[in-house]
Amino acid sequence: MDWVRSWKVTLLSLLEDIPLYLRPLIASISVDGTSATTMLIDGNSGEMLGRPLLYNESCADALPEVKSIAPENHTVCSGSSTLCKLVSWWNVNDSNKQSVLLLHQADWLLWLLHGKLGISDYNNALKVGYDPEIESYPAWLLSQPYSRALPSVTAPGTPIGPLKEDILLQYGFSKDCVVCTGTTDSIAAFLAGRATKPGKAVTSLGSTLAIKLLSTSRIEDARYGVYSHRLDDKWLVGGASNIGGAVLRQIFTDEQLEKLSEQIDPMVASPLDYYPLQTTGERFPVADPNMEPKLHPRPKSDVEYLHGILESIARIEAKAYNLLKDLGATPVEEVFTAGGGAKNEKWIKIRERVLGVPVSRALQTEAAYGAALLALQGWGKDTVASV
Ligand code: ADP
Repeated sequence: MDWVRSWKVTLLSLLEDIPLYLRPLIASISVDGTSATTMLIDGNSGEMLGRPLLYNESCADALPEVKSIAPENHTVCSGSSTLCKLVSWWNVNDSNKQSVLLLHQADWLLWLLHGKLGISDYNNALKVGYDPEIESYPAWLLSQPYSRALPSVTAPGTPIGPLKEDILLQYGFSKDCVVCTGTTDSIAAFLAGRATKPGKAVTSLGSTLAIKLLSTSRIEDARYGVYSHRLDDKWLVGGASNIGGAVLRQIFTDEQLEKLSEQIDPMVASPLDYYPLQTTGERFPVADPNMEPKLHPRPKSDVEYLHGILESIARIEAKAYNLLKDLGATPVEEVFTAGGGAKNEKWIKIRERVLGVPVSRALQTEAAYGAALLALQGWGKDTVASV
């Protein structure tokens, strides 16, 4: 698969899709990309040095080295971190080390639009080791030879500059249209929900369960895979469980889910207690690599069975928010819901009872909408000084 080509073609075809009459009216553009999808580029020519390393690829060969320089349990201490990808590349490549430049997927797509190499945002740069609290790469990273490949970092939604001349002319955008730094997919999806106050959270009920909570304090705990992204003067604390809708889909079709849910009384607590993992192992809110899925006993009634599973997932969600609170995050006050499970009104009622806070479906969950809000935030601001 030629990822680089397909990403570029997709970006340009999206520009093409914007109605002609709207193009001159667009004031700012931003892009979100997959966190830890890493691209190593020649800083002079902009050519790719090898293929992109995708978000879920592990470069475990670099892990011992990364662990030896980074603080214990740091976000970079995972084989799929951006830093492991950089170190792995550095160790197997002899040439191009002088000119290599690391970009994340969103940085690279934005570069196609503005043409200035070497700029990132502090959400994307977290997994390469950037510290958004001190607004710098830490000393332990800067002392490494490969630190010369690191991009300069700004807040997400910071104006970088105008569109490149060729893009501007080809698509008919305004010369005043400004390109702003982006963010990661999951943060953009959170931004889409416009949850701007500490205590507001988004639970994603897709194939797996993931939560994101806006907090005034920063929480990190690698045991649970919990870490915080900076969002202006607040922190977006996140954790992801291995449980979720994937198990529901193994047992029921989406149509069955809808029909059976209609018959559930959400005000009554189900006595059934499950742990709907797909395979062995859980990380958050319980760190136990040996935990087994628990989906038995199965009652005769499918309605009771589904009720038990939905209730159990709600209990695990509540435990997840409690864990974040115990680790020092702002207590959850309101939960918005995204993902395939968000359309289940009965589940929302069950969760409201179990979590003890208002729960509703997020009005907007598209990451692209969040990226557009970032672009709006950048509009009218000064262009970043360092570029
Ligand atoms: P993904 O994480 O793969 O993007 P989606 O956000 O598309 O997942 O959500 C799909 C999940 O939603 C499936 O696992 C499915 O079981 C679940 N789902 C679909 N309809 C319902 C429903 N009515 N109630 C609860 N869960 C549902």
